[in-house]
Amino acid sequence: MASSSLDPGLRLRINLGAWFGWVSMHPDWTSAFIVSLICTVNFSTAIAHQFCIDKRNAMVCSLLCFIWASVVIILYRPELLAILYAFGFYCLYLISTIKNAHAEFFRKLDIELTLIETQRELDSMARTDPLTGLANRRVYDTEMQRNFSQSKRHNTDFSLILLDLDHFKILNDTHGHAIGDLCIKAVARLLNDTCRRELDIVARIGGEEFAIILPDTSIDDAHKLAIQIHQRFQGLTIPEAREATATVTASMGVGSVAQTGAQDVNTLYELTDAAVYAAKQQGRNQIGIARLH
Ligand code: GH3
Ligand code: MG
Ligand code: MG
Repeated sequence: MASSSLDPGLRLRINLGAWFGWVSMHPDWTSAFIVSLICTVNFSTAIAHQFCIDKRNAMVCSLLCFIWASVVIILYRPELLAILYAFGFYCLYLISTIKNAHAEFFRKLDIELTLIETQRELDSMARTDPLTGLANRRVYDTEMQRNFSQSKRHNTDFSLILLDLDHFKILNDTHGHAIGDLCIKAVARLLNDTCRRELDIVARIGGEEFAIILPDTSIDDAHKLAIQIHQRFQGLTIPEAREATATVTASMGVGSVAQTGAQDVNTLYELTDAAVYAAKQQGRNQIGIARLH
């Protein structure tokens, strides 16, 4: 039972060691002994380097190659005692090699993992707006294109909401840029909390401009969402600057393509942006609609 469950690699090393031990028993087999000695040294060295991840196992396996020959020399071939000492020194060398290779392996692994982690952070930074933590303009551009194409392929509705804060320059001038930043953060939180569907993408696409990509969403549903956002703006608060946020409002544009392959993504953006502009023209703090056919 025990031998059948033995790791095949370990069994091979025990067999090799036993074979070397058996060859060592015969005083006349000098050539075979030399060849076995060379093979065993090479094999144990290879084990030390190759299996250094598992330090204990590598040591046991390397030393097993010499154990039988050592026993044979002690019991039957005292004239080879010098070789036994050489085994001893070589085994010490193998142990130190395994220790060093093991430490080196994990040092490199650490470096590799740190590099992967750094790369992941850089990727995330390249995709994230630093002030709000929302997707940035770059993500907006690629996701807009990707989702729009997907909607076309699947013949589903596709909607977009653009949002521009009203008179934000005045807010900055009145309360300072830091309060303006807090306000932008609060708006980002509001949008994130309102757009909870997994498919939706909320992005900050400019200073005080936001976009919400709404795949598989009809114009009516997008409009409802815009109304919900509009209502939530009434209760927008920033704990640090409560009085400064009381007057923050936004003008929005809702654009939608209803199951058509005829329109392109730039047209949708331009018409939705025009709807924002129209909302501004009509007094701000309201929602403009653009439907593409
Ligand atoms: P409108 O209602 O017509 O949109 O007026 P507005 O003042 O919001 O628009 P305008 O484009 O004239 O000004 C935008 C302002 O947004 C100017 C700029 O100082 C401010 N802004 C842009 N990015 C940031 C930011 O990251 N932090 C802060 N605090 N302000 C910003
Ligand atoms: Mg603007
Ligand atoms: Mg503005």
